[in-house]
Amino acid sequence: MSEAYEREAEDFLAALAEEYYQNGAGLKETLDLSPIYEQHAGLFTWASVDVLLAARATPADRHIAQFAAFEHLDSSARALTEEITNAETQATLQWDGKTIPYRLGSSLLGREPDRARRQQLHQRLLAITEQHNPRRADRLALMHTEVKGLGFAGYEPFCDELLGFDLPQLARQMQELLASTSTLWAPELRAALAEGEIRPDEADVSDLRYLLGAPQFDPLFPKENLLPALERTLAGIGISLESQSNIHLDTEERPLKSPRAFCAPVRVPSDVRLVIMPRGGREDYASLLHEAGHAEHLAHTDAAAPFPFRCLGDNSVTEAYAFVFDILLRSPTWLEQVAGIEPDDAYLRFARFYQIYYLRRYAAKLAYEQELHASDHLGPDLAARYSQLLGEAMGVDVPAASYLSDVDDGFYCAGYLRAWILEVHLRKELVAQFGDCWFATPGAGDFLKDLWRLGQELNADELAQRLGYPGLDVNLLIADLLSPPEA
Ligand SMILES: [Zn+2]
Repeated sequence: MSEAYEREAEDFLAALAEEYYQNGAGLKETLDLSPIYEQHAGLFTWASVDVLLAARATPADRHIAQFAAFEHLDSSARALTEEITNAETQATLQWDGKTIPYRLGSSLLGREPDRARRQQLHQRLLAITEQHNPRRADRLALMHTEVKGLGFAGYEPFCDELLGFDLPQLARQMQELLASTSTLWAPELRAALAEGEIRPDEADVSDLRYLLGAPQFDPLFPKENLLPALERTLAGIGISLESQSNIHLDTEERPLKSPRAFCAPVRVPSDVRLVIMPRGGREDYASLLHEAGHAEHLAHTDAAAPFPFRCLGDNSVTEAYAFVFDILLRSPTWLEQVAGIEPDDAYLRFARFYQIYYLRRYAAKLAYEQELHASDHLGPDLAARYSQLLGEAMGVDVPAASYLSDVDDGFYCAGYLRAWILEVHLRKELVAQFGDCWFATPGAGDFLKDLWRLGQELNADELAQRLGYPGLDVNLLIADLLSPPEA
């Protein structure tokens, strides 16, 4: 592709990241993406996407075609996406005698300890979710029509071919994962429900959200220790966060700042922003470690690498680097030696429960999303399938109303699943070369930096091959999940 196209594409991504940063950091009240899409509309007209799809000779060409085709879909759906976002931002419900925003209600749900109140709040939230479903159905139908217009048989073949995932094979592997972890999941779930005094035959997804929030472990993860724990982790592998001039650490408290850490890659590798508002608690540690993994990958990407390798490609790769860090919360040695946290058996058991939960949930989501995107009839039948597939995997009641809101574009669930598989390969290699305490050896940092330099030139399968495996091996992940928590 022409240099001019690549330059404009990079400017477009920089403008999007800057806007997400301004809004998420609480520096700007609104998120105005439409003007950015309008300014760069030439990048993803049907005609330019058509040309790029036809010219997929090299990996760099394929990254560019993937970018253009997905952004084309995004910009076609932009008006509906904004309608949904605005409707959600403006929606309110009655709670405790007050009118509160829908999104606040949603975040209160996971923290409500009283089960009867939780049920009540959940029902009110679901009623609003239900109201937004027709718009979501319209948006999905529009995307399905668009991909056919671009010459693909459907949404799954479109994603599969452009992302290079082999979704049917991944789906088969995930059925294996569900089957091999079910005998482990059932007793772990029963134990967690018993702890929360919830009857298994009554349990639903809001109970699970509350249990996964695990407020009982929050005292282990104080706010003051959050940044020092990250700094010590990076120092252990030879990285001084403080002296990284291309990572801008934004820790300032602002009323409108996102409560969740995030990473905004404005320019890769020269301007990467890592944004947090420290609150403390396990989830806060997990999200900071995760986002720091993204930030380090991006900040260490070779500045001389071509744009398609620095900024585009298979996001399973950057997600795997993020998982390398957030999974440290399962390691008793890291907790004790680096974070200064004394975990007990209950915590370590919980940490594994949490991991299995996510894998099983995403495995079921993949199966469901394949059915969703293959269907021309959105409605009660699919909603029932959502409830059935997710319910079977989770072992609790999953309300059908979320059958359209619990879906990310572009089979992002598959990207996460591939990333979880790749993370085990990376961790095995780190342990093999640098020992169980790899996170305290600068050599491990050099090993990671060597891979980070590539940006996303290699996809997750190729990266597994570079590490000496025939490809991504789901059995490594299954074995990791089945292994008992370390003492
Ligand atoms: Zn991530």
